[in-house]
Amino acid sequence: MSAIDGLPPLAQVVRAHDLAPTKALGQNFLFDLNLTARIARAAGDLTGHDVLEVGPGPGGLTRALLAGGARRVVAIERDARCLPALAEIAAHYPGRLEVVAGDALTLDPRAHFDTPPKIVANLPYNVGTELLIGWLTADPWPPWWHSLTLMFQREVAERIVAGPGSKAYGRLSVLANWRGTSALLFDIPPQAFVPPPKVVSSVVRLEPGPAPDGVSLGTLERITVAAFGQRRKMLRRALAPLGGEALLERAGIDPTKRAETVDIDGFLTLARHLEAP
Ligand code: SAM
Repeated sequence: MSAIDGLPPLAQVVRAHDLAPTKALGQNFLFDLNLTARIARAAGDLTGHDVLEVGPGPGGLTRALLAGGARRVVAIERDARCLPALAEIAAHYPGRLEVVAGDALTLDPRAHFDTPPKIVANLPYNVGTELLIGWLTADPWPPWWHSLTLMFQREVAERIVAGPGSKAYGRLSVLANWRGTSALLFDIPPQAFVPPPKVVSSVVRLEPGPAPDGVSLGTLERITVAAFGQRRKMLRRALAPLGGEALLERAGIDPTKRAETVDIDGFLTLARHLEAP
């Protein structure tokens, strides 16, 4: 029996349901319920909130979210082997856990929520960035979700939160910090997982900001793809196909700068001038 909810320890659940982790589904399970409780707390006060969890697996984080006071958790899981274990959790918390069997990359979860949910997930590494980009490019904005509290490989987490001047600063940083604010909260070592991954993981929290003024995502992407595609070159060269020196001068940005030293406002100014020459 576990201290947080009276359900069996996760190692026992995995044994009882024969849930040997598979690499193809990015399965690295967390068995330590103190750690899953820490991730749930990183999402802030859950009381009265709906939560969307992607990839509950045997349900360690799911249990922490429910024990932490979430009003309702909707959990999307692709591995049908996990469904009986998740059904046991649902029976323990009547009416509070809805498990959706399927692929989070193709399912649209919005119909499951009346109010914007907090999205909390220990994401499979192979789909994490794609899901994040989908959530950050939601239309309309502010988005259908309340906040994102997500685990990534540390290297991806660093790219999300990076600011200008850092090596990790790139397209993902510009997108994440254009759409709101992000922070890297804490690391989780490989040995916390079964099986241990090769790299350190980090928990990142993102909060949406106000609607960005007058710049389309497509235009911003054209600029950042060109600028960071040749990040060692001066912007006048990297942005040559989009107007190069003339565009940079209209935007008041030094053409000899490199992409990694331009802040979000600089990219937004470039996008505005590209849209309205
Ligand atoms: N949340 C559990 C934990 O913390 O122990 C499991 C995390 S494990 C890193 C990732 C989970 O995502 C696995 O249960 C895997 O089956 C599931 N998964 C992988 N790809 C998925 C997808 N496209 N849609 C939904 N779930 C997926």
